[in-house]
Amino acid sequence: MAPISPINADRLWARLMALAEIGATPGGGVNRQALSDGEIAAWHRVIAWAREAGLTAATDPAGNLFLRLAGRDRAAPPVLIGSHLDSQPTGGKFDGAAGVMAALEVAVSFAERGETPAHDLIVVTWMNEEGCRFAPGMMGSEAFAGVRGIEAIRAVRDANGISVGEELDRLHASFPDLPRKPLGFVAAAYLELHIEQGPLLETAERVFGVVTGIQGKKTFQVVLAGAEGHAGTLPQQQRRDALAAFARTAAALHDEISAIDAEIKFTIGRVTVEPNAPSVVPSRVAFSIDLRHPDNAVLDAAGARITGLCHQHAPPCTVTITPLVDAPSNDFDPRLRERIGRAAYDQGLPSMAILSAAGHDARHLAKVCPAAMIFIPCRGGASHVEHEWADPGRVAAGASVLAQVLRDLAFADQPFVAET
Ligand SMILES: [Zn+2]
Repeated sequence: MAPISPINADRLWARLMALAEIGATPGGGVNRQALSDGEIAAWHRVIAWAREAGLTAATDPAGNLFLRLAGRDRAAPPVLIGSHLDSQPTGGKFDGAAGVMAALEVAVSFAERGETPAHDLIVVTWMNEEGCRFAPGMMGSEAFAGVRGIEAIRAVRDANGISVGEELDRLHASFPDLPRKPLGFVAAAYLELHIEQGPLLETAERVFGVVTGIQGKKTFQVVLAGAEGHAGTLPQQQRRDALAAFARTAAALHDEISAIDAEIKFTIGRVTVEPNAPSVVPSRVAFSIDLRHPDNAVLDAAGARITGLCHQHAPPCTVTITPLVDAPSNDFDPRLRERIGRAAYDQGLPSMAILSAAGHDARHLAKVCPAAMIFIPCRGGASHVEHEWADPGRVAAGASVLAQVLRDLAFADQPFVAET
């Protein structure tokens, strides 16, 4: 049995609960949206905890925060562990925060025991994972991995017209003593602990999920254009009613796309109608499509069907389809998955392989280094809600497995050499 790396479970829980007080909502949840005063306050708290243990803090142009436990070999690429500190407006205490605090606890525990890793161990919090204030999310990890340019990210505005750029400048001005790293750097590996945000682990009575990958996702914006008219006088046959076209198109999409495969997730989540007046024939309907499937071939096939179905059912209206997100499914690094499974086994904790139905920053890190995720169960599978809850013992167990995997990775001169 491999040695178990102890962490301080009580401290981890106390800090996680203290963090949840920043942006706490009356309903017991957290409202700490990206680049808000709440997130800045959370940075102050987390940086103070890290510095107390001798870690050093730095940021980058994308507003990611790095807390570094220095390794013996400063030239070796660092091992990254972390998640995000931002939340949904009525989010919970654990989404993102559990991963950051588990990562910090692991690094702090190593530091306290005077255990110096071979590689730098860097706890990271990615900017704007949630994408609710500034859409779409995962900006920090996308910028880090070179998926999106920083100027495009800075230009995005929230509902009040405030830009990411302005808020990034405000964030950096709040931490004038933090050194600024260049955007993106070579990493040896990335590990992220997260609550599952679904019910599978709890149902299967497993303590851990070894995440195999993240299911692929495509999103589209569709606009149906017709013509306005008087609801009382315009003859029915002459109408180009955009809402009627939407009703036909939406029904056909639901029926046909759902029929492609049982695992398909097809959602029309937002619809706007113009002019949206009771006695006017609707002239324009814009709607969103969110399409997900773990198998890229099925996802592509389903995505391709959308265009044909829209064109088939739109007439006499015209239709414009704009693809927005095209994120294929990814597989996490098999060597890291094996190590997570083994660490869970060594600690006597039942685990299972699980596909992430939700997106995470790790998807982007997987493009630039070996990456993997550990899921812990959350009560009833509920997440993005104020009553989101994870058992203290499960959070601690997750951190403990993370610590053991990191003992292998960051303390080895060549993290993966034993596997080849
Ligand atoms: Zn999250």
